[in-house]
Amino acid sequence: MLDAVVVGAGPNGLTAAVELARRGFSVAVFEARETIGGGARTEELTLPGFRHDPCSAAHPLGINSPAFRALPLERYGLQWLHAPLPMAHPFPDGTAAVLSRSVAETAASFGPRDAGAYRRLVEPFLPRWDTLVRDFMSLPLTALPRDPVTLARFGLVGLPPSTWLMRRFRDERARTLFAGLVAHVISPLSGFATSAIGLVFALAAHARGWPVARGGSQAISDALAACLKDLGGALHTDYEVKRLDDLPPARAYVFDTSPTALARIAGLGRYYDGYRYGAAVFKIDYALDGPVPWTAEEPRRAGTVQIGANSAEIGAALRAASREGRAPDRPFLITVQPSVADPGRAPAGKQVFWVYGHVPNGWTGDLTDAVERQLERYAPGFRDRVLARAVAGPPEIAARNANYVGGDIASGAASGLQLLLRPKPSLFPYSTPHPAVFLCSSATPPGPGVHGMSGHNAAKAVWRRLRQS
Ligand SMILES: Cc1cc2nc3c(=O)[nH]c(=O)nc-3n(C[C@H](O)[C@H](O)[C@H](O)COP(=O)(O)OP(=O)(O)OC[C@H]3O[C@@H](n4cnc5c(N)ncnc54)[C@H](O)[C@@H]3O)c2cc1C
Repeated sequence: MLDAVVVGAGPNGLTAAVELARRGFSVAVFEARETIGGGARTEELTLPGFRHDPCSAAHPLGINSPAFRALPLERYGLQWLHAPLPMAHPFPDGTAAVLSRSVAETAASFGPRDAGAYRRLVEPFLPRWDTLVRDFMSLPLTALPRDPVTLARFGLVGLPPSTWLMRRFRDERARTLFAGLVAHVISPLSGFATSAIGLVFALAAHARGWPVARGGSQAISDALAACLKDLGGALHTDYEVKRLDDLPPARAYVFDTSPTALARIAGLGRYYDGYRYGAAVFKIDYALDGPVPWTAEEPRRAGTVQIGANSAEIGAALRAASREGRAPDRPFLITVQPSVADPGRAPAGKQVFWVYGHVPNGWTGDLTDAVERQLERYAPGFRDRVLARAVAGPPEIAARNANYVGGDIASGAASGLQLLLRPKPSLFPYSTPHPAVFLCSSATPPGPGVHGMSGHNAAKAVWRRLRQS
């Protein structure tokens, strides 16, 4: 009998498996797709020689993850590559604000009226970032906070809606960039604890940057898998689990799946019926005949570029997709330029380019024209650089990965109480009514992103149970 079986080889499933194997437990992973990685994968989606990340591409949470930092992933080939700027946010007037490694450069890009407010916001947390990120990503208390005072101070600033926090800024530049940061988890700007989201992304940039993985996000999954194999763990692909009986006997079953799928597979009835899925994304991967012709200079040096004219336009786009059930006229776009840091992703002189905008869950329309009109506002001539595009709306995204129900890449709305208390309010979110069954996907805290912390926290719950029995 195995000690643990993990269902799903996404970053959380792989991290959970590695954490258990490191502690001497026997582990096997079963993955539905023919390749491992879940939301951290790389494929030639368009033309030969163009290496695209169909899902995650930028890794502020990965490089700052306490779980990943504790593993020897570099030894297994993972290398973080940094663009000169982690992120830039261009405006229609041809200028841009930036999120730089340097607080001073970031603050200066907001203009003199908001530079001081920004420094006062982030500087108190930076010296304690490593402890804070560990405490924050281990909520609800899988470990006692190492620095409860800083965590409480972060809570005071982070728990209110981002619309409150943005009142600290007098001008639109800082507000717009911050609204864009919040929009990364597809949460309405007025939602509970949305300030914390913006702050975490900003602090992550100042602490360690927003890198890409050399060769593509697949390198993260491959490093975790190689680490697991060295520790004696087994990996089986092309094996979709439909019932618990499909799996070999084990003392614990750890699911890197959606709560809905887990309930169906493990016979948990209506236990997760209250779980909500959120808005979806419309994703385009481009093969380009050269760099994006940004009007502003800063985005040409940035790994990630946010596109949204002001905080009102970003807020309206989020509301349209998440509350009004329609695609936004002017979608807020997150774009990543992996080639800026990692030229090897495309043949010489060419680039890969990654873009998504938000649309309602299950939306079946085509957002390509609206996306490209937005890009042309900030990079006139963009369309002339396009060699090929691979388009994926919510149905394609859901078909590729069962966790992204209706195209929701967060595997469950990251809004309301469900932002922090996932998959339901509980001090033990990784446990289920079945004593041998656990959940470790991004439907558990700390939520979406390639950081492995849900897998790390769930593994802790599993090894505690295994040591008791
Ligand atoms: C378009 C897109 C862009 C994104 N951009 C970023 C980004 O830039 N940065 C970032 O940090 N995050 C990003 N994310 C989010 C990130 O990819 C996810 O939050 C993360 O991958 C979640 O990890 P996970 O291990 O919980 O689940 P997943 O990565 O989704 O992995 C789950 C795995 O389980 C498998 N599985 C599901 N059901 C079964 C079953 N029944 N039997 C066997 N296997 C099963 C799936 O095939 C999959 O391989 C993005 C996601 C998408 C889709």
